[in-house]
This record gives sequence, structure tokens and C-alpha cells, in this order.
Amino acid sequence: DMTADWSVVDDYIAERLISPQERQHATLDANRAAGLPEIDVSAPQGKFLHLLAAAIGARRILEIGTLGGYSTIWFARALPPDGKIVTVEYEPRHAEVARANILREGVAEKVDLRVGAALDVLPQIEAEGGPPFDLAFIDADKANNPAYFAFAVKLARPGALIVVDNVVRDGAVVDPATRDESGLAARRLFDAVAAEPRVTATAVQTVGTKGWDGFLIARVTA
Ligand code: SAM
Repeated sequence: DMTADWSVVDDYIAERLISPQERQHATLDANRAAGLPEIDVSAPQGKFLHLLAAAIGARRILEIGTLGGYSTIWFARALPPDGKIVTVEYEPRHAEVARANILREGVAEKVDLRVGAALDVLPQIEAEGGPPFDLAFIDADKANNPAYFAFAVKLARPGALIVVDNVVRDGAVVDPATRDESGLAARRLFDAVAAEPRVTATAVQTVGTKGWDGFLIARVTA
């Protein structure tokens, strides 16, 4: 297991390139104090998502899976003053912690936090008929990733990016004997993305504090 070495490098990256203010120590401390699982993105990943949103000039972002709002805040800080991230969280306890973090970090006006199961909330968002999203980040219950991806395509503008986290899972995605739920879900997601003519996509493997994993990134072309 190389995770210890990978973590040292993640720490190095964060110390060199990511400011203490960007790293959101208070958010991570609050999450830990509230007993939230430590399954947020890492600091280098959060910064990567932030840069991605800034690079495409995202004004509207959809996030599925808020947890304590760590990735939400990374995205919110990439938005213009009138930008918005709609983020969906199933667990009211997580949402409550996220709300406090989002307030403390001064981005509350840019965050629209919806509490509920994403498969219930996404049809509501669709029915509201708001402007399409420039970027979607899918990071909730992995079994529903194919359905979330389909929603993201539907709610996105042409040219939008869709990022799905945790699609490699220690290689479980290609292990024919795996019983790992998220590995099996990742395989179904790859099949769905490959069969979706309205996107062009790739996936990038990652190592770091979160072990060996990866994210899928798709661009909506139509
Ligand atoms: N994106 C967050 C970050 O990086 O800071 C981490 C999200 S965590 C990996 C996944 C979250 O999805 C958990 O808070 C979990 O409660 C939530 N979740 C699980 N099932 C869900 C569902 N059906 N709808 C919405 N959220 C769900």
C-alpha cells in the first residue's frame, strides 16, 4: 500500500501551491468535530476542480453530494459574484454542517443547498427550468452514477463539463471478480458514458491521500 507515500506528496503539493486560506482548515475541523466521514476530495483535487470551473468561466454549477461543503466551497470561490452552485445532499446532518461551513467561508450567496435524495431533487431542479449548468460534479452514492450522469447531460449546456469522482476504486472497475459496489457502479457508468452520443469523455487515474482512484470527465457536445 503506497497511500502513505502518496499522502506525503499530496501534503507537499498543498503546502507549495495551495494557500492556508484556500485549504479550509476550519471546514475540515468542523466536519471532523461533527463526526462526518472524511471522504471529501483532497486539497489538490479541490484546487483542480476550482481551476477547472474558473478556466471555463462557469457561472452555474451542479453538485451531487455535498457532505460538509468542502468541494462546494472550492467551486463557489471560482464563481463570479452572481454565480451559483446548486448542491444536493441526502443527509440533513451533513447539510447542516455544510450550511455552517458555507456561511463561515463567506460564500452563502453563491450556494443553493438542497436537502433530499438526488433522484428526487434533480427532477425538481429540471422542473424549475432554470438556466443550464456549465459544470456538474457527481460525488454521492456511487450506485446511482449512471442516472446522475444522465440528469447532468440533460441539465447541462452544450460545452459543459461533467466530472464524476471515484471511478477506479483500487482497480475494482476492471476486476471481473469484484464485489465492490462502487467498482461495479463505475463499470456501469463507463458503459453509459460510452453509449451516450452527446458527450466526449475520458477518465484520469489518481493517487494521493485518497488512495488509488480516478475521475471521469465528459464534455457535452450537443
Ligand atoms: N463532494 C463532497 C466533498 O468533496 O467535500 C463529498 C461528498 S461524499 C463523498 C458523498 C455525499 O453524498 C455524502 O454526504 C452522502 O450523504 C451524500 N449522498 C448519499 N446518497 C445520496 C443521495 N441519494 N442523494 C444526495 N446525496 C447523497
